Amino acid sequence: MTNRPRPAHGRGRPTVFNNAARARFLQAVTEGMLLAPAAAHAGVVPEVPRGHARKDPDFAAQLAEAKALGRKVRQERAPHDEARYNNQGCRCRTCKSAAAAGRAARRGQPSTHPKTGRSQGEVVGLPERGEIPPSFSLARAS
Ligand SMILES: [Zn+2]
Repeated sequence: MTNRPRPAHGRGRPTVFNNAARARFLQAVTEGMLLAPAAAHAGVVPEVPRGHARKDPDFAAQLAEAKALGRKVRQERAPHDEARYNNQGCRCRTCKSAAAAGRAARRGQPSTHPKTGRSQGEVVGLPERGEIPPSFSLARAS
């Protein structure tokens, strides 16, 4: 006779996302971890906290708060550079000069199309008679 392990309490699947795991998960999210790694950190797959949030409004509220705090932490951790100037509106000296340098560099070297080598915004004249590219002839034939 096989000896089946008995479930810890009652029927159904044992609770993998117990209070300790929940606390671990919420703490990780609060500290800026993204949801999937935070779930892994708590020893569950990402679907588990997501499902709990759907069924448990209290947990959903805690998670929303943790996510808001975590987002702030991630933003504060981001380096002061042009992206921070643009995305977070940071106007500190470092971000300002990085953004100014970035703009100047882009103005100084106009980007060119990788295939044609033409700089963007360049005016292209119409083809002379006799040198009509195939795309034009096809359009005309149809
Ligand atoms: Zn800054």
